[in-house]
Amino acid sequence: MKPASFEYHAPTTLTEALDLMAQFGDQARPLAGGQSLVPLMNFRLLRPAHIVDLNGVAELNFLNAKNGQLRIGATLRQRALEKSSDVVARWPLLREATSYIGHIQIRNRGTVGGSLTHAFPSAELPVAMVTLDASFTLASKTNRRTIKATDFFQSYMTTALEPIELLTEIAVPSCLPNTGWSYQEVSRRHGDFALAGAAALVTLDAPGAIVQARLTFTGTTPIAASEAEQKMRGQALSEALFKEAAHIATRDIEQDSDIHASAEYRREACAVMAQRALSQAAQRAAALMKESK
Ligand SMILES: Cc1cc2nc3c(=O)[nH]c(=O)nc-3n(C[C@H](O)[C@H](O)[C@H](O)COP(=O)(O)OP(=O)(O)OC[C@H]3O[C@@H](n4cnc5c(N)ncnc54)[C@H](O)[C@@H]3O)c2cc1C
Repeated sequence: MKPASFEYHAPTTLTEALDLMAQFGDQARPLAGGQSLVPLMNFRLLRPAHIVDLNGVAELNFLNAKNGQLRIGATLRQRALEKSSDVVARWPLLREATSYIGHIQIRNRGTVGGSLTHAFPSAELPVAMVTLDASFTLASKTNRRTIKATDFFQSYMTTALEPIELLTEIAVPSCLPNTGWSYQEVSRRHGDFALAGAAALVTLDAPGAIVQARLTFTGTTPIAASEAEQKMRGQALSEALFKEAAHIATRDIEQDSDIHASAEYRREACAVMAQRALSQAAQRAAALMKESK
């Protein structure tokens, strides 16, 4: 199928892009990598009258790590994030999560901001950003606001973005020293959308107890496992602890059934992914501590 007809706009500055969004409101859709937007238009599930192509807006395509913070421009390609030496060294959870997105060809084209605003339930980047406590900058012609990742994702493929707003920047704080990471997911074949996924961070103190643990799952929106995180704080590492934390985190977790998997299957897969992610993150944290001695 071909998309319904639309008018194409190619702004070259952020100001121009925001002017267009303000002018056309919910008649407009920003275009980033186009990998989700264009299929939706081809299937006529979306019929925007105006396309605002962000690819010529150089101000939105950047990546820098300064003052303990990673700042990511919305149109940065997913593959550029994955290959950044700063990300590999200091935000390895982001690298690992990104490596699960489709295949290299998809990540060459797909953008960080496109994935976050598309907010697909099995997507890796929303889960990683919630785990890392990232903040998003949303801009309109007249306003600029910052919102925590956890408040950005509101319901199925729905975010806090207003029709006239663009996601412009993602800010990710540094992890504490001795923090291990892991992203685990289950899919039918490598590169397929995940049936279930979990991201974990585990931070150890000098005697080897857990200072902080973070655990987030894929779901209609990313699901943070606060009770399990609390349970692990101050405890010594053990597989029994991770099994219990995985159980606490998933016993009442809301998951959907669809043609790919039932909610029951997803719940069980989340528990297995959680235990694996916590265990690997703890091992990595312990190895970092050993290296730093
Ligand atoms: C074969 C295939 C396999 C894939 N596998 C995976 C996978 O395993 N995991 C995964 O997470 N994703 C997967 N994807 C999706 C891929 O990651 C896309 O990159 C992503 O969904 C959308 O990013 P995009 O840059 O292409 O955005 P687009 O398709 O251009 O845009 C997506 C949506 O976001 C809006 N938008 C884009 N940028 C902004 C912005 N800055 N501000 C406001 N709104 C904006 C658009 O208007 C649109 O509604 C796959 C895609 C394909 C084609």
